[in-house]
Amino acid sequence: MKITDIACHVLVADDVDPGLTSSAQDSLLVVVSTDEGLEGYGESDLNPWIGRACIEASGTHTMGLGMAELLKGKDPRDIEALWDHVYTMTAMNGRRGAVIHALGAVEMALRDLAGKIAGEPLWKLLGDPRPTPLVPYASLQPAGSSFEAYRDALCQSAENAKKLGFKAVKAECTMAGPYAHDGMNESYDRHTEVVAAVRRTLGPDMTLMVDVQYLWRDAETAWSVLRDWEEFDLYFVETPIWPDFLDEHARLAARAPFRIASGEWLSTRWEFEDLIERGRIGVVQPDVGRVGGVGEARAVCAMAAERNLPVVPHCWKTGVSLSATAHLAFATPGIAFVEFLPPQLCIEKLRRELAMEDLVLENGEILPPTRPGLGVEINWDAVRAYGRP
Ligand SMILES: [Mg+2]
Repeated sequence: MKITDIACHVLVADDVDPGLTSSAQDSLLVVVSTDEGLEGYGESDLNPWIGRACIEASGTHTMGLGMAELLKGKDPRDIEALWDHVYTMTAMNGRRGAVIHALGAVEMALRDLAGKIAGEPLWKLLGDPRPTPLVPYASLQPAGSSFEAYRDALCQSAENAKKLGFKAVKAECTMAGPYAHDGMNESYDRHTEVVAAVRRTLGPDMTLMVDVQYLWRDAETAWSVLRDWEEFDLYFVETPIWPDFLDEHARLAARAPFRIASGEWLSTRWEFEDLIERGRIGVVQPDVGRVGGVGEARAVCAMAAERNLPVVPHCWKTGVSLSATAHLAFATPGIAFVEFLPPQLCIEKLRRELAMEDLVLENGEILPPTRPGLGVEINWDAVRAYGRP
């Protein structure tokens, strides 16, 4: 079997809002085709035009070859060897960041293909089947541009998640800082008020995680706010500190009464090694659409398992990446929760329309998917409607 084509679809929702804290408004959908007629689907969480260039650009010299050029004509089944080959031969195009995010989309498509070739769901091919059910958490969606609207939207979203039977939720609490929702700039006290309101809405029994999206640059300032959050019984606080400041992560982790989670933007196991060893984080968060694919995410999970750290993969994209994350979790010990929001609860059109996944939520748990590969069906009408040149 040979790879005949790698098609890259740049997708942007027609209601895209640059003020919204959400990268699920666009997508790079990668389709790997073979000479035997099978297709694999992958996706990256990266500006889709940049991702497409990373895959389609022609090579210019021995250490800066073109990704698609390297893969066409190769047997798609030798996934790890292909990943290593591309990683090595595109080294001068970028050993981290965009090139690796894009490579992950191709790898995800190869994994999908492998499952389809075997006629098995991907998680069965990965080994280490999960002995316990998979518990998803719902990411609560904020709205509005005032403090009150933001708080009330999160609480409403928390109510909805509770009604759907979720056991865990993550509240984004980002009304200031580089990731601020809709240009807001609220005080840290008001961030504390939002977390308190969400905890009140949920009651004491549900697991609550909070994502502050790089609100701080140093442990001292972060701690001046987070020391008041102990009473909210948080499972973790996500990305309190900008990812370059690893020593500040370690300083905060040494003081905080809850876990510090991070990793959503990182690519390769090597970046995670630094975050874990020097940053001393307590929850490891690879994103399959950024870390370099399912195999690289598994390497990160193995690294976390060696250190007894829980993994809670990040994923805020369409059913393609959500499915890849679920398959990873069904075959990887140590994954505590996965991020999963049913399409009907999502405001993002691409999440609702691009892909139908084979994931069923029942009693707050996700059942193992049964369809071959990732088990996703692409809605080609959505690809045509949101495709960009
Ligand atoms: Mg986050």
